[in-house]
Amino acid sequence: MPAPEGRSADRARAEIAAALGQTGFTLPGSITIRRTRCGKPRCACAADPPSLHGPYIQWTRTVHGKTVTRLLTPAQYQAYAPWFASARRLRELAAQLEDLSLAEMARAEGWAKITPGTAAPPRTRPVRGPNPNYPKPRETPGDQSA
Ligand SMILES: [Zn+2]
Repeated sequence: MPAPEGRSADRARAEIAAALGQTGFTLPGSITIRRTRCGKPRCACAADPPSLHGPYIQWTRTVHGKTVTRLLTPAQYQAYAPWFASARRLRELAAQLEDLSLAEMARAEGWAKITPGTAAPPRTRPVRGPNPNYPKPRETPGDQSA
């Protein structure tokens, strides 16, 4: 007969599973909305107050370890915003299920403590890591004859 804690963990797991069952379409990546200046001195974006270009709706995701971006139209953004929200919810639910599973494993194994993992991973990765060659190491002057 399972311990009461086990039964409440089962209930919590069932609630998460039910929420997962309600999950609709999900899109990976994140959205950044930007309004920009083009730099031309006579453009409306340089006026005071400025009338900036955009909005540019940029969708960023990782494909085979590389960052990929695509611009969305406002209509596309509006249409797919629930899919991005659904992906966030999915990540939250997955994290909850993992936390619950860790606690349940610790309970079942009699482990006093189990360190929870890190929170959900960042939604995007940096384009690339720091370039070790930038800034270039300065060349040290060689010996100079006097
Ligand atoms: Zn401009």
